[in-house]
Amino acid sequence: MAILDCAIVGGGPAGLTAGLYTTRGGLENVVMFEKGMPGGQITNSSEIENYPGVTGEITGMDLMMPWPAQCQKFGLVHEMVKVTCVSKSGDIFTIHKEDGTTTDAHSVIIGTGSSPRRVGFKGEDELFGKGVSTCATCDGFFYKGKEVVVIGGGDTALEEALYLAKICSKVYIVHRRDAFRSAPNTIKRVHNTENIELVLDSTPDEVYGDDMGVTGIRVINKDGQSRDIEVPGVFTFVGNDVNNETLIQKDGNFLCEMNELGQVKVNLKMQTSLPGLFATGDMRQDAPKQVVSAAGDGAVAALSAISYVDELLN
Ligand code: FAD
Ligand code: NAP
Repeated sequence: MAILDCAIVGGGPAGLTAGLYTTRGGLENVVMFEKGMPGGQITNSSEIENYPGVTGEITGMDLMMPWPAQCQKFGLVHEMVKVTCVSKSGDIFTIHKEDGTTTDAHSVIIGTGSSPRRVGFKGEDELFGKGVSTCATCDGFFYKGKEVVVIGGGDTALEEALYLAKICSKVYIVHRRDAFRSAPNTIKRVHNTENIELVLDSTPDEVYGDDMGVTGIRVINKDGQSRDIEVPGVFTFVGNDVNNETLIQKDGNFLCEMNELGQVKVNLKMQTSLPGLFATGDMRQDAPKQVVSAAGDGAVAALSAISYVDELLN
């Protein structure tokens, strides 16, 4: 296979936008390596109301649906495979894939995003997928007319609690502090929703169940008092970890400079410390963690990659 002008790793809002701008901007051979369906983590969101120009009730899946076709129109190729490592020798990058094959490229734009973090209470791993979930859009319907617990106090927890409150008879929000780190309007909506009960200053201790799945969760408040909440569903939304594994080299070092949080250091052109490697979206330092900014990063990185490849080859 010919050396790609650009390899894009990750097909979320950042990777897809990079795909649109690189192909439309004249790069010839561009492949986006995405392990699943393109769209990224926003496809798990039940509602998005802050993507400019998109109004009305729209899910993350609805928002992302047209993006891949728009890129493919300009020549972007999607290869559905998990990338295990990105390495560089001389001026050539190599994309190592889970199926054992490799692809070489003159430039790489990486946008592997982030993944839901586990909370760390007893039973969480054992009952994951059997009542413990990180996706309300995917699993909320299983609890139609039933009570569920949501754990977390950020934008995701509160927004997903509001979504679940429309399906479920009652939603308990268990949060370890007495203040939320969410948008004021979202907090207001939570307070105004009758079937949401706040269980504040409390942390989950253990989720338990039987052969059928989860039957309840024990939480402990700051005074050490425990409370059992009997529910068949527990949704955890306690933040995300950066997906930076593909940048780890054989010697254990990262391919480029990272910060102490494991995020990629970039400049305003989305250039990393390694020439020809650009990082975008949730995985880069100081990311606002928004679809619109991830898409913006993708466009910036693509324009930088076009200049880099142009200079390298001409
Ligand atoms: P991601 O969307 O995480 O995409 C990364 C992609 O890379 C994924 O498709 C993944 O499969 C792929 N990938 C990862 N590793 C590999 C690998 N090794 N090989 C191949 N492919 C790989 N933002 C808003 O602006 N508004 C909202 O209302 C909003 N709501 C949200 C609700 C929820 C439930 C969540 C979880 C997030 C929400 N966000 C929202 C945040 C938003 O989704 C992210 O900021 C955005 O998706 C980041 O885009 P990204 O392209 O950087 O990464
Ligand atoms: P987040 O903002 O990091 O919030 C995580 C929440 O989980 C916090 O309330 C935190 O508590 C709690 N938490 C973390 N670890 C915990 C533990 N071990 N046990 C109990 N609770 C724990 O994560 P997020 O809500 O997923 O949001 C991620 C990013 O995406 C944010 O930047 C957010 O703004 C963005 N986002 C935006 C939108 C939107 O714009 N509409 C929607 C969703 C997400 P503390 O508060 O005590 O730290």
